[in-house]
Amino acid sequence: MDFEIVAIGNELLLGFTVDSNSADIGLALAPAGARVVRRTTVGDTPAEIRRAVSEALQRTRHVITTGGLGPTKDDITKKAIAELFGVPLDFDDDVWQFLVDRYARLIRRSPDSNRCQAEVPRGATVLTNRWGSAPGLWLEGEPGLVVMLPGVPQEMRNLMAHEVVPRVRRLGAADAVIASRVLRTAGIGESSLAERMGNIEDVIAPVTLAFLPGEAWVDLRLTAWKHSADDGQALLDRAAQAVRERAGEFCFGQDDDDLAGVLLEHARRAGMTLAVAESCTGGQVGQRLSAIPGSSDVFRGGVIAYHDDVKHSLLGVPREMLEREGAVSEPVARAMAQGVADRLGADLAISITGIAGPDGGTDDKPVGTVWHGYHIAGSTGTRHRVYPGDRHGVRTRATMGALFGMLRRLRAASGEAV
Ligand code: ATP
Ligand code: MG
Repeated sequence: MDFEIVAIGNELLLGFTVDSNSADIGLALAPAGARVVRRTTVGDTPAEIRRAVSEALQRTRHVITTGGLGPTKDDITKKAIAELFGVPLDFDDDVWQFLVDRYARLIRRSPDSNRCQAEVPRGATVLTNRWGSAPGLWLEGEPGLVVMLPGVPQEMRNLMAHEVVPRVRRLGAADAVIASRVLRTAGIGESSLAERMGNIEDVIAPVTLAFLPGEAWVDLRLTAWKHSADDGQALLDRAAQAVRERAGEFCFGQDDDDLAGVLLEHARRAGMTLAVAESCTGGQVGQRLSAIPGSSDVFRGGVIAYHDDVKHSLLGVPREMLEREGAVSEPVARAMAQGVADRLGADLAISITGIAGPDGGTDDKPVGTVWHGYHIAGSTGTRHRVYPGDRHGVRTRATMGALFGMLRRLRAASGEAV
């Protein structure tokens, strides 16, 4: 079953609001076996809404709209679509009573302007909105099916989950679902990864593979289209196994796995604690680690050693080393990692010193130059990278690189096969 989405609102066209609703609708429909094949965005103009919905109905006969259902003057979706179906709006006493009760609970008077929210296109099913005021509407008729949902994201998502998805499942394709899984990689670029994957499409068919590159990682999305839920999962298991084998050590997890979380889990299993010493990333590695709930049993803390004085006074990096080698150098990265492990009493330590730009680059140390130090139970290694991108990009890549570098070393130290 194919659906189109029509997102309604001038604010979406102006760019003040990002259309997260369309994305959420796509995510909610896939497991119900329905596919979104096109999205359209229109302003708060009845003629534009009618035209967009009518064209979408001609193509797929299934449309979901979001926005413009509320009580304000610009909320005209319901009227425009009722016209398209050639049905009048009827005042619905039950909906009105629901709205009055809701207002009473909130100790407010129900404004008369809200009366229009109780108007329902004749023949439509009311989707009760327990999360807000404007109800959703499910209207089936000669032109097809139009589901109208409010624009407020939280109301829209709840109505999708509790009212729309169960009905879509009953509508048809009840046991054919679209199932997907994401394998997460870091430390390798999209094209190198594609080379490693080789002819994987033939191996995993009918499952499909998509490369989703991020700022400093590449996600691999596997999708099984239109199978029963069980078959879909079995196909994904098989495909994931094949992709993992080819991605090798670069695959660090799947779906919601976070690189920092995976690293913490490895350290926890090894019974080790972790500290960080950051210069050019200014605390981003510590931020990522502390964002993981329950990280305090592994993550001891960190030092943002931005100025050379701090590298010396808090991490014990010798002054003459800083002068002779420069702050962005292998010996300084090594000394920072050793220093922070020592001072914070951690088994593991990560250090980062680099040139994030836009200024400060030289011929032998261009912008993007980063030294990572890795201290693991008494011995310290380093790694040199030159990252592409602007200041933000270099800092993000240096952060991911640091977390991934430590994870790789920990895995190697524990002799873990990937
Ligand atoms: P209400 O009853 O609150 O008036 P509504 O159905 O009329 O709901 P809108 O007035 O269009 O919805 O939008 C309500 C809020 O939801 C606004 O803050 C708007 O920016 C936001 N919103 C609308 N459409 C979207 C969308 N597609 N994605 C994300 N947010 C949206
Ligand atoms: Mg509104």
